[in-house]
Amino acid sequence: MSSTRLIKTDVAIVGGGIVGASAALALRRMGMAVVLLERDLCGSRSSGVNFGGVRRQGRPLSQLPLAQRAHRIWASLPALIGTDGEYRRSGHFKIGRSEADMAALEHYADLSRDFDLGLELVSGQRLRTECPWLGGRALGGSLCPEDGQANPRLVSPAFALAAARAGAQIFERSPLTAVAHDGQQFTLQSGHSLAVQAPLLLNCAGAWAGSLAAQFGEAVPLRSGHPAMAVTEPLPFFMRWSLGVEGGGIYCRQVARGNVVLGGGSGVGLDTDRARSERSAIATLGEQAIALLPALKHAQLIRTWSGTEGYLPDRQPVLCTSRTTPGLIHGFGFAGAGFQIGPAVGEVLAELARDGRSTTPIAAFSLARFDSPPAPAAATAPPPPALTQTP
Ligand SMILES: Cc1cc2nc3c(=O)[nH]c(=O)nc-3n(C[C@H](O)[C@H](O)[C@H](O)COP(=O)(O)OP(=O)(O)OC[C@H]3O[C@@H](n4cnc5c(N)ncnc54)[C@H](O)[C@@H]3O)c2cc1C
Repeated sequence: MSSTRLIKTDVAIVGGGIVGASAALALRRMGMAVVLLERDLCGSRSSGVNFGGVRRQGRPLSQLPLAQRAHRIWASLPALIGTDGEYRRSGHFKIGRSEADMAALEHYADLSRDFDLGLELVSGQRLRTECPWLGGRALGGSLCPEDGQANPRLVSPAFALAAARAGAQIFERSPLTAVAHDGQQFTLQSGHSLAVQAPLLLNCAGAWAGSLAAQFGEAVPLRSGHPAMAVTEPLPFFMRWSLGVEGGGIYCRQVARGNVVLGGGSGVGLDTDRARSERSAIATLGEQAIALLPALKHAQLIRTWSGTEGYLPDRQPVLCTSRTTPGLIHGFGFAGAGFQIGPAVGEVLAELARDGRSTTPIAAFSLARFDSPPAPAAATAPPPPALTQTP
């Protein structure tokens, strides 16, 4: 008869994406004992299949303190996780295709000035000199020289490996199957073979975090989104910057090997776990890509894919301590931003676990924003926000 192994620890984490894994690493660096349960392989979900954009430009102002903290961490990846993960500060260029787009980019540059993103508006002769490869529709754009890109397949698993090297106990292929709280301790069950007991529990289960939150009386309007992705064969290197467009639609970057990675539009969820890019989204993406980058006219797409990401209605994450259960801490719903801010989120979660407070402002990400307001006389539900924005 098999017996259940019981591990007592300081902090239990559910989810081994970039958020859970970087929290595990940060907690170990603080000297706390950590057990992480990942039902699949660490970094195999959103964190390992995303576009690879590591940009701050265009993020809501409320996320910029986290994004800035993450920006500093990204600079130290080799020392922190043992690889640079192909991270390059290549620059991120957000293209304007109309005067209204250019005005919106200028407005964002003004609003974000205090964060020192170093944004430069580029147009006219400079645009033509620096981007001869851009199609005719681009009027100009906003360059963030220190934003960049990285390979998610390398970076996200490397956070988990680094956490394990630092002493975190990481269990892959170990889904959380039951959880209880007795007022002091959480007891987590993974099948019949493993039980974990801890006074602190981090909910880092990505798009699947809603059920764990709901079990502790904190239902959230989390839904899944599936950005469509594609990549070309290797092409002669021509595009230094990672690109987005004002208003969304398409984003792309070229890796050092020459492949151009494209994103835009929405894929479909096949079931709760699997997603793929739809044929129509890829056709639209292809047309937009050629209009933006004529060099892609004869390029072959060699792969398309998607992933499953959690979105709250306001596209802001949930990053806070629980209001119902002492010791429960949530970090999920990063809506196209979690790869860039994930390393900072991990540090914040570790601070919340150890100190009960974060040194980076996170008030905008509390669950209180979902408290129901008094019902208006004739309420009309607003349409859900589009999920086609640039990650
Ligand atoms: C296609 C795509 C493109 C994107 N592009 C970008 C981009 O360019 N830049 C950017 O910053 N962000 C981007 N994002 C968003 C980013 O990838 C996510 O915000 C980020 O990876 C979220 O990390 P996470 O750790 O919260 O979630 P995940 O990586 O989804 O990790 C959650 C983990 O929890 C595990 N889990 C769930 N339930 C359980 C359970 N019961 N027991 C145990 N484990 C469980 C899952 O298996 C999963 O591994 C993109 C997302 C997608 C899908």
